[in-house]
Amino acid sequence: MTAPDAARDLFIALTSHAPTGVWSAPGRVNLIGEHTDYNDGFVLPFAIQHRTYAAASLRDDDRIRVASTFAADPVQVSVADLDTLFPGAGAPTVPEWSAYVLGVAWALRALTPDAPGRGFDLAIASDVPVGAGLSSSAAIEGATASALNDLWALDLDPVTLARAGRRAENEAVGAPTGIMDQMASMLGQPDAATFLDCRTLDAVSIPTGFAPAGLEVLVMDTKVSHSHSTGGYRERREACERGAALMGVPALRDLGVGDLPRAAELMDDVTFRRVRHVVTEDQRVLDTVRMLREQGPRAIGDLLIASHASMRDDFEISVPELDLAVDTALATGAVGARMTGGGFGGAAIALVDRDRVAAVSDAVRHAFADAGFGAPHLFTVTPSEGPRRDA
Ligand code: ADP
Ligand code: MG
Repeated sequence: MTAPDAARDLFIALTSHAPTGVWSAPGRVNLIGEHTDYNDGFVLPFAIQHRTYAAASLRDDDRIRVASTFAADPVQVSVADLDTLFPGAGAPTVPEWSAYVLGVAWALRALTPDAPGRGFDLAIASDVPVGAGLSSSAAIEGATASALNDLWALDLDPVTLARAGRRAENEAVGAPTGIMDQMASMLGQPDAATFLDCRTLDAVSIPTGFAPAGLEVLVMDTKVSHSHSTGGYRERREACERGAALMGVPALRDLGVGDLPRAAELMDDVTFRRVRHVVTEDQRVLDTVRMLREQGPRAIGDLLIASHASMRDDFEISVPELDLAVDTALATGAVGARMTGGGFGGAAIALVDRDRVAAVSDAVRHAFADAGFGAPHLFTVTPSEGPRRDA
């Protein structure tokens, strides 16, 4: 069954009637620009064809019922409960998955106090792999925000909806993430990536030209997720803040590659290497945008490779499975490859000639088996459109 049908069926099972509509939003993959978002820097993600669907209707009362094929039981609260549940003090008292949906409803109501939204029923189904670095979280937030934007007649723009998604994730779920994922999902365009300035939230659509160049983006999900990822993420953020403070700038975004020699003198080796990753990664994003505009996607391979090396050696967020996927893809003829997402597991991407996708995939599968690693999940992604109403 397709995900939109699954959302509709789950809605009918929940309510015994058909939904008013079905809305969806995409996951995303980050082409380049890792750990730059919370340093006020640059990122270049694109929305993918995998989407999360929300089938929904308003109710006549103030109850909210949400269900997902991801979880066994529906969750029920009232709109008044939202303000007591969120912002959460520590762990949410509702099941964590439901805080993504309820948190968006809370954030949207807080934005529009003069148009308080009524109760609703909403059922979620998705074909975005969860926890693979493809931002199933932004997809569920975006699908929910789009549904409520229409049902509550809020008429909010995509950037405002993206901010509501981020607020839900930060303050309702309690995950200290940046705005990149929501912006990538909300501003997705077919055959284009979103060049985002995370300080100003200025976003420019950059044609990727993968298809005419005969290229595919292969996702290599290692299925590895390391327990120290939360602590590792916090440590990286703190190192970046320390580095910026030592350099006397508000954020690492304010440094250029020319500032690195002075940074090396001012800070310890680990902090310096964290800073060097972010500063050079910002520059690689700018270079990738320029290459895509001037020479096309084949010219960005070396930037992807350099990005991976920087994350592996300077930021130290790769794992052996990610390195093996990247190295094997490159050895089998990929134009470029890098880990993508926050690190400590998750997925890598490779830019591969269309007629080499099968060979690269086979090589990665074999390399994982030979190394004694669990089987990776391999699939291609295509730059795709942002939120839409499907039915
Ligand atoms: P990622 O965004 O990389 O996939 P996150 O940890 O940010 O990983 O978000 C994953 C979480 O989002 C899941 O653990 C779940 O709580 C929630 N989520 C994502 N998709 C769904 C879904 N279809 N139904 C319910 N919850 C979902
Ligand atoms: Mg996420």
